[in-house]
Amino acid sequence: MSFDDNASLDTSRVGSGGGGRGVGRGPVIAGGGVVGLIITVLVVLLGGGDMLGTDTSSQGEQGEDLAQRCQTGADANADRDCRAVATENSLYDYWSQQPDLAADLRAAGQDFRAPAQVTIYEGQTQSRCGTASNQIGPFYCPLDERIFLDTDFFDILQQRLGAQDGALAEEYVLAHEYGHHIQNLYGVLEESQRDPQGADSGAVRVELMADCFAGMWIQHAGSTQDSNGNRLMEGVTEEDVADAMSAAKAVGDDVIQERSGGEVNPDGWTHGSAQARQTWLGIGMQASTLDDCDTFAVADPNNPGS
Ligand SMILES: [Zn+2]
Repeated sequence: MSFDDNASLDTSRVGSGGGGRGVGRGPVIAGGGVVGLIITVLVVLLGGGDMLGTDTSSQGEQGEDLAQRCQTGADANADRDCRAVATENSLYDYWSQQPDLAADLRAAGQDFRAPAQVTIYEGQTQSRCGTASNQIGPFYCPLDERIFLDTDFFDILQQRLGAQDGALAEEYVLAHEYGHHIQNLYGVLEESQRDPQGADSGAVRVELMADCFAGMWIQHAGSTQDSNGNRLMEGVTEEDVADAMSAAKAVGDDVIQERSGGEVNPDGWTHGSAQARQTWLGIGMQASTLDDCDTFAVADPNNPGS
């Protein structure tokens, strides 16, 4: 989805971090093996397994001032980092006023709180969940309630994972991670640790719910506003939906398993099949309440209609 050229962007909840390589002291979070267990426990990734294979770390642009670069919707349409800023603005506007969430939080005596920061980084950066590198893709760290986004990942999503290159493919990624923050507010995120693997595991249900939450935002993104009350985004088109679906498909566990040369083994799934991820993204785009995204309410999250 593209942004209204005249919309004004708010960079106050977005920061840039990291840059370069080898700056970290904590455990490097990488996919697979023993370290993969740490991922399951501590962070919530976009896709399961070692999605990216080789290191694609890049350097440069460290410390660039987002606030100076990213001021308008036109900047967001032209620049990937600014697009992440604008997407955060839209997600914040939607979720901070989402009526079901507001009612549930009120009932629990809580107020909405945004993720502490959306951190755009290059190469490596520190999180309370460890040292993040762009090998693992975007993730949400519940310990510091931050979303970590390496915008180089979007190249990988397109070039190596086969997603289309439309803006909504990128926006979906951030919306999915934002969905994990919403789950954190609900306390449901823990289910992915309690039951971390398998086609109908808690982990898969958590991931598919985050996809559904992303779909709910997509459904409403066209009516979100900037901090001045002006329209932020243009409405979703069929092409946008196809872009988002291609991204959801690209990060399906079965697609990732096949691409890494292994057999498709549902027992190892942590995020759900390509089909299920697209299904729940679509459910979110049609959902009228948050309950419609309750992946724990269906017997088989891979076939929610059955
Ligand atoms: Zn996820």
